[in-house]
Amino acid sequence: MKKYDVCIIGAGIIGASISRELSKYNLNILHLEANAKVGIETSQGNSGLVHGGFDPTPGKLNAKLNVLGKKRYEDWIKELTFPYLRIDSTIVAFNDEEVKHLKMLYERGIINGLDKSELKILDSNELRIKEPNISHEAVAALVCNSSIAVDAPMLAKVLMTNAIKNSVDLHLNEKVVDIKKQNDVWCIKTNKNEYESKIIINVAGHYADKIAKMAGFDEFNLVTRRGEYRILEKTESGIVNSVVFMVPTIHGKGVIVAPMLDGHVMVGPTAEEGVPKDETRLVTQEKFDFIGEIGKKLISSINMKKTCMTFSGSRPIEPKSDDFWIKATKKDKTFINVAGMKSPAIASAPAIADYVIEELIKKPNLIKLEIKPNFDPIQKMVNPLI
Ligand SMILES: Cc1cc2nc3c(=O)[nH]c(=O)nc-3n(C[C@H](O)[C@H](O)[C@H](O)COP(=O)(O)OP(=O)(O)OC[C@H]3O[C@@H](n4cnc5c(N)ncnc54)[C@H](O)[C@@H]3O)c2cc1C
Repeated sequence: MKKYDVCIIGAGIIGASISRELSKYNLNILHLEANAKVGIETSQGNSGLVHGGFDPTPGKLNAKLNVLGKKRYEDWIKELTFPYLRIDSTIVAFNDEEVKHLKMLYERGIINGLDKSELKILDSNELRIKEPNISHEAVAALVCNSSIAVDAPMLAKVLMTNAIKNSVDLHLNEKVVDIKKQNDVWCIKTNKNEYESKIIINVAGHYADKIAKMAGFDEFNLVTRRGEYRILEKTESGIVNSVVFMVPTIHGKGVIVAPMLDGHVMVGPTAEEGVPKDETRLVTQEKFDFIGEIGKKLISSINMKKTCMTFSGSRPIEPKSDDFWIKATKKDKTFINVAGMKSPAIASAPAIADYVIEELIKKPNLIKLEIKPNFDPIQKMVNPLI
């Protein structure tokens, strides 16, 4: 049986982020992923925005990690080669009540640690100069100039490739089916092999609650909230200049019309609670039509007939805290859960990895962490096999 210091379960963008940051240290790391590819579950079904950080409720862990994560992306941009676009977020208000929410979001942003230079409220005329195609009913907007659009599955692959370069053992097509603790080490059984590890980091997306229960811990449950999108042809590019949002506190989080990195235009997502875990990537006729209404509400001239693709993904929500659930289990500090990874988890990804390393491994002194002298942070190519 192969023996490791750390076993990471799940290679979405969050698992890949932790793997890459942990590969800086002299550790034997095993990374298990049930799929044949990295980053093809929730990490493939989202808006891919490194949010500015004005939306999360102040005081929540996700508010803190969003702002820290956004800053840490600057390191990743220097070290890793991946497509990204610095782009404004424009949150559009349609009535007086929504204008009040814009002001509240501005204040939240400042409390969360954004600089005043990152946020600006636009009146109707200024909004039309910025977004000439915006609906005639729009009355004002909040602009945040510090968001970044990324291709999350591609970024997951780049992070994972760099982790492998720095000695992480990635095993694809290996689904964890059983976990037991014997003689102070974790015994992990997959559909193919058995391994031993001193520490487990559970980053299994929608199945993180199931993995924790497998190991005997019943501290949290995850529910689904599926979001569907329609993607418009490249002929529609230019219909918006920034990521145009409905007011998130009123219309559900992150409803947007946005330019994509590949020149298409994204419209969505919807928010549907309680879908089965094996239907989190489903697209439905009902929501297809509803997304058309969202698009028209923001940009009346949008041509939704130009839809060329659809996709969806679901936010794994921890309903009790409605926040990220990043903690070791109460009974055993060597079993770390990184769950409840709803938005802004992509924005927070580097800070989530830092938090796991600093707060949950270093602070309780779980294992000796020595920086590898030969750690190579630079990654230009993606391993095509992952
Ligand atoms: C509609 C929508 C829009 C979003 N927009 C944004 C946004 O704009 N900005 C932002 O910051 N965040 C956004 N998010 C959130 C973001 O997409 C997720 O938080 C993130 O992708 C979660 O990544 P993950 O690695 O935790 O999970 P996943 O990507 O789901 O990865 C988990 C992995 O675990 C594996 N796994 C599961 N069970 C096992 C097992 N038994 N054995 C081995 N492997 C297993 C799975 O195969 C999977 O690959 C959005 C989410 C949704 C749904």
